[in-house]
Amino acid sequence: MKPASHWRGLADTLPRPSGHFIDGAYVQTGGETIEIIDPAHGSALSRTPDAGADIVDHAVGIASARCGEGIWSRCSPRARGEVLWKLADLIEAEAERFAVLESLCAGKPIRDTVMGEIPQAVAALRFFAELPDKLRGETTASDASVLHYVLRQPLGVVGAIVPWNFPINMAIWKAAPALAAGNSVVLKPAEQTPWTALLLAELFVRAGGPAGVFNVVLGRGDTAGQALATDPRVAKIAFTGSTRVGRLIHFYVSQSTLKAVALECGGKSPQIVMDDVADMEAAVDAAVFGAFGNAGQVCNAGSRLILHEAIHDAFMERFSEKIRDIRMGDPFDPDVTMGPLISGAAQKRVLEMIRLGRQEGARLAAGGERATELNGYFVAPTVFADADSSMAIAREEIFGPVVTVLRVSDAAEAVRVANASCYGLAAAIWSRDLDAVHRMAAAIEAGVVWVNCFDAGDMTQPFGGWKESGKGWDKGVDALMSYTQPKSVWIALGARP
Ligand code: NAP
Ligand code: MG
Repeated sequence: MKPASHWRGLADTLPRPSGHFIDGAYVQTGGETIEIIDPAHGSALSRTPDAGADIVDHAVGIASARCGEGIWSRCSPRARGEVLWKLADLIEAEAERFAVLESLCAGKPIRDTVMGEIPQAVAALRFFAELPDKLRGETTASDASVLHYVLRQPLGVVGAIVPWNFPINMAIWKAAPALAAGNSVVLKPAEQTPWTALLLAELFVRAGGPAGVFNVVLGRGDTAGQALATDPRVAKIAFTGSTRVGRLIHFYVSQSTLKAVALECGGKSPQIVMDDVADMEAAVDAAVFGAFGNAGQVCNAGSRLILHEAIHDAFMERFSEKIRDIRMGDPFDPDVTMGPLISGAAQKRVLEMIRLGRQEGARLAAGGERATELNGYFVAPTVFADADSSMAIAREEIFGPVVTVLRVSDAAEAVRVANASCYGLAAAIWSRDLDAVHRMAAAIEAGVVWVNCFDAGDMTQPFGGWKESGKGWDKGVDALMSYTQPKSVWIALGARP
């Protein structure tokens, strides 16, 4: 990794895109603006426009017109794939810019953006770039007097609303399959992290994508987001964010047309470590990464650690040692492994949950405070031990570096505790008992189950939540299919010659 001075220098000098990106160009608007804050220092970075309903209306109008013209939706599928592949090349060529902008406004450690987020974004794009000409419909077995086939066609305009925790990846997980399938896109990034989404749309045009097919509007959720979700010309809303807003999206959508809706929402994912765990060290590493990676601001964070009583104490001892290796600080320092929370409000909310955990009687085994030696919105890695499932810290998504440890005595209890949640996004099981693992994996209520690993997989793996964690799938071929609609064509054949 290059030194902090290199990254800081880039952060101070690289141009930051500004304005909405509509019809292939940056658009400035007057009126309200949103301040972009550096969460590592609490200082202002710049301002972006705050779209009212009129800008969203304009962007959707452009996207909708492009659908009508067929300039993208009816162009050769391979040509669509080539544009997306070129887009991935362009991001790769500007990887440092993407990494720095992402670290600057989201407070992510530069090592995570350089080695994780940006290469993952490129890989995600390439996965979808390879798919357009693999998309197939089907012919069905029908009577000799009939030819019946099912076409897979684009939906039209897709509205994507994404959060700030993995800005470029969340944007790509929605926009790439939607574009690959021939749709037009209007994307609303989170107000805190607009830059890489704008660059993505700008580079799409530079890669040969037609202007107006991929647009980005900046603005707050309750204005721009709501306008997008209620616009009758939008055929689908693809949302990633909190369960609270996911419910609102459902409500808005039901108020306009019967548009499709996919929701990737919150989680409270369990990591279960059984008494026969084969590699305790790997499980401890996964527990640290799962709880404190991205400062715990991860939808599938392993925020509940469910430990078998036989290994509980040994595990906790090693876990506590490893937590001491976490280095908080300036995200541009390549040795820093944990950055700040996204905002002062997030920091306040997390500290309030910690206060509640103490009040409920869980044992604070590590952290519990803001890291006062640093100016930004930092909270120290926090561990609550001896908790039970009735406590708020075991039930609610904290979305910060706080892990709740629960003790169990067998596999059945582990599954019961894992399922004692309104969420069902992901889970992990650490055990070498194949029978038990299969039974537990089948019984756990979650969209994704990892065995003897955590947060593993690649773009081939469909990712989505059960229960209050959402509906629909990101990643995988399933994601591509979800941006198409079937059309059933039934042809009565004439009488035989
Ligand atoms: P959030 O508050 O729900 O916001 C997500 C997006 O929705 C933002 O762009 C936000 O815009 C917008 N929004 C807010 N209120 C809205 C409204 N009334 N109508 C329409 N849009 C609205 O979530 P967040 O704090 O950014 O992100 C954290 C959450 O995302 C966590 O719950 C996490 O678990 C979840 N998440 C889930 C996944 C997954 O794949 N399941 C992945 C990542 C994150 P503004 O913020 O700009 O107002
Ligand atoms: Mg927000």
